[in-house]
Amino acid sequence: MNKHAIVIGGGIIGLATCFEFQEAGFDVTLIDPDPISGATHHAGGMLAPTAEVQYQQQELVPLMKESARIYPSLIERVSQYTSLPTGYRTDGTLLIGADRADGSHLVDLIKYLHVEDLPVDVLTTRQARAAEPALSPRISKVVSIDGDHQVSPRLFARALFDAVIHRGAEHIQDQVTAINGYDPCLTVSMRNGERVASKSIVVLAAGLGAATIPGWFEGSNPLKLRPVYGDIVRVRVPEQLNPLVTKVVRGFVEDRPVYIIPRDDGTLAIGATSREDQPHPRTGAVYTLLRDATRLVPGIEETEFIEATCGARPGTPDDLPYVGWAGSNLIVSTGYFRHGILLAALGANAVVRMSQGREVPASLSACDPFRHKN
Ligand SMILES: Cc1cc2nc3c(=O)[nH]c(=O)nc-3n(C[C@H](O)[C@H](O)[C@H](O)COP(=O)(O)OP(=O)(O)OC[C@H]3O[C@@H](n4cnc5c(N)ncnc54)[C@H](O)[C@@H]3O)c2cc1C
Repeated sequence: MNKHAIVIGGGIIGLATCFEFQEAGFDVTLIDPDPISGATHHAGGMLAPTAEVQYQQQELVPLMKESARIYPSLIERVSQYTSLPTGYRTDGTLLIGADRADGSHLVDLIKYLHVEDLPVDVLTTRQARAAEPALSPRISKVVSIDGDHQVSPRLFARALFDAVIHRGAEHIQDQVTAINGYDPCLTVSMRNGERVASKSIVVLAAGLGAATIPGWFEGSNPLKLRPVYGDIVRVRVPEQLNPLVTKVVRGFVEDRPVYIIPRDDGTLAIGATSREDQPHPRTGAVYTLLRDATRLVPGIEETEFIEATCGARPGTPDDLPYVGWAGSNLIVSTGYFRHGILLAALGANAVVRMSQGREVPASLSACDPFRHKN
């Protein structure tokens, strides 16, 4: 096999994968009609293995921890090949319960975080407001999570794209319509042509689009992906108030989750809802996000509204991604659901290691791409 990889999909997963292939000495072809137009364009960008932990998802925890561990190296290496910013920030995260019921929710979560060996520091409201004076005095409980960081997904994805193109990647601006000739004589068909890929590694990293490419496994597609929509709002902090907050602020307000992510350019991303219908920003959801965010940080009322968007997370039935071999030269890497920005470092690294016959973290054995085929 040549040291050549064809990566289908130029979201955060495909782009990070292209980059890691180049690091391993591969030539790379990226196929995407419109890179960075999917979930990556809308995402918040929290790299938050602790604050994002969910009950009953123990198999995700080691994946998230490992990806957070190797993220700084990915950022550092990408920055050697591009002058574009990544929006990577290590200021940490505050997790807040707004009222007393939200506070006791947080106490239960802290117990669970200890069980999962995810460290947090409990702060008094006074300590939290000393660190972030814009926090409302009407908050009930706060913990600080130093290890939960963030990138700006649009910036980081653009930086990755710039880096891989400067290192010589070929970009075919086309949509893949079929992957034919399963094992080992793959042909990748596009709207405007085709590529014989029998001597390349092909990586299917097309986010939700991966489930719509027909027939590549015994005449069917085994991936069960569904869109899980999320509204997210962007606002600009006026100069005299900037920075309004320096850490990511996540909270529960009357049991509804909300987060506020400060960016280097003086904007805030406020997100995100989760629903399976209506692929456009929903007015009621935008209203609720802004009301809940303002409950935690009242100064948000003074900001300039920029946009409300709605992205589709590539969800799987068990919330774990699909990562693994799907033929002698086809690897699947998709279904990263709520955590694709965080898991991009691990996913990209693992795919390249698989293609070289090297060991990958044992936790990835739960991510078999065929586990939902029936
Ligand atoms: C509102 C919101 C907030 C989020 N916040 C976070 C967060 O804070 N932290 C976190 O870790 N994750 C977050 N996520 C999840 C994260 O955005 C996704 O898991 C991640 O972006 C998935 O990346 P991807 O590259 O697999 O898919 P995408 O970004 O959707 O990219 C897929 C790419 O494939 C291309 N494509 C599709 N079909 C084809 C085809 N047939 N041929 C060629 N190309 C094709 C598309 O053009 C697109 O560029 C959030 C998501 C949303 C919606």
